Amino acid sequence: MRYHSHNNPTITAQFSQALLASLAPDGGLWMPDKIPNFDTGKQAQLGAMSFADCSSKLAKHFVDDHFSDSDLTDICRDAYDFPVPLKTLSGYELDTATPENVNADFILELFHGPTLAFKDFAARFMGRAASHLLQKSKEKRTILVATSGDTGGAIGDAFLHQKGIDVFILFPQGGVSKVQEQQLTTIGGGNANVHAIAIDGTFDDCQKLVKEAFANKDYTERFNLMSANSINVGRVIPQSFYYFWTSLQIKAAHNDLPIVYSIPSGNLGNLTGGLIAKAMGAPIDRFVIGNNANDPFVDYLNTGEYKGRNSVPTLSNAMDIGRPNNFPRIVKLYNSDFEAIQKVCWGASFTDEETERHMRRVYAESGYIMCPHTAVGHMAMKEFSKDIDMPFASVCVATAHPAKFANSVERILRTDIQLPEPLKKAVSRKKIVHISKPSLDDVMNFIENKS
Ligand SMILES: *Cc1c(COP(=O)(O)O)cnc(C)c1O
Repeated sequence: MRYHSHNNPTITAQFSQALLASLAPDGGLWMPDKIPNFDTGKQAQLGAMSFADCSSKLAKHFVDDHFSDSDLTDICRDAYDFPVPLKTLSGYELDTATPENVNADFILELFHGPTLAFKDFAARFMGRAASHLLQKSKEKRTILVATSGDTGGAIGDAFLHQKGIDVFILFPQGGVSKVQEQQLTTIGGGNANVHAIAIDGTFDDCQKLVKEAFANKDYTERFNLMSANSINVGRVIPQSFYYFWTSLQIKAAHNDLPIVYSIPSGNLGNLTGGLIAKAMGAPIDRFVIGNNANDPFVDYLNTGEYKGRNSVPTLSNAMDIGRPNNFPRIVKLYNSDFEAIQKVCWGASFTDEETERHMRRVYAESGYIMCPHTAVGHMAMKEFSKDIDMPFASVCVATAHPAKFANSVERILRTDIQLPEPLKKAVSRKKIVHISKPSLDDVMNFIENKS
């Protein structure tokens, strides 16, 4: 597969170059030239495979000849060694019961990877793919990644001890949950290749610093910078795999129902993955987007006008994004046809009060504990279904384990929640973090001394 800059179709690259360079030389986002399309016969074969093997077959179409079929099988089996369950609020799991008796309202739990958020899917593929390339070429890279909470943990975990790569994670000081901060600042233990930098500012400041670093030729060349944020096409492609595979599982059980996914969104990388899966022919009818108070995309869907803005802090902090960096990709995927986007995407935004109330209601009615992000997506789906009078299968993407937000979830639900094993370990380790002003030179000085 070849890729081109979203600003200029004559600037092109192979997958390997696009992955390691992050942005096109003109500052554009890499876009796949032509998304592969699978007919229903091929889909049936792919849907019958394990998630990991289906992923490696899909990945084959997006990479280049630096990856053999067996490389991809190894990468995907190693990356995706955890379950991808479709559950209902009442605890039913799609592949363990007879479908006829069960409603088709699913929660797709994407939080069973090592850092308990959906970002593991992309980070683990990307980390293995990058290290595969760098081992062959004996090159080095420095990853600079801005995180509003979950990306940093997933990238740090996926790249820990990968040869040829140093990782620097920028997060807003005080802007991530306690458990997230504990995860972010305990990955490398101070002497490995993963380092945390707390920025005295917001997530937008962190994202701006990373963008400035990549726009600076001196820095990108001196440090061989590579981005692990969702501006990198290597992050976005693997996020299509779980939409493709899970939609086929649902179709196999509920053949005649249209399928609608709801996605709690911030930078829109997860949605972009979904839209790519749909373009590959996955049987997905629509996407419902949930935003918190940071809702430039929902505004766009309602008005046709896009206005980036400064972010405000909310309960669902991983979605506190005022200028979603995948917006241009989505517009390009639909050739700037707003009506085409509106046909596929529907959105609604919610306040923190509404989110808290919804989490309490779901817990009271079913005992299911949602993280605040998942709750935003779940509310959006409820809102969407009010206007639809035909039956459909709904799939609410659960983006993180509620224990990652233990402090707020325990306060809202007035119940204790158990920390899963990986979080218990992270919470017991000593934090090592460098604190920096939101200044690019300060950040790069620190990096210079560490790498
Ligand atoms: C990153 C994240 C989101 C937002 O995903 P985008 O791809 O940035 O839209 C939502 N929920 C959680 C828990 C996240 O970590």
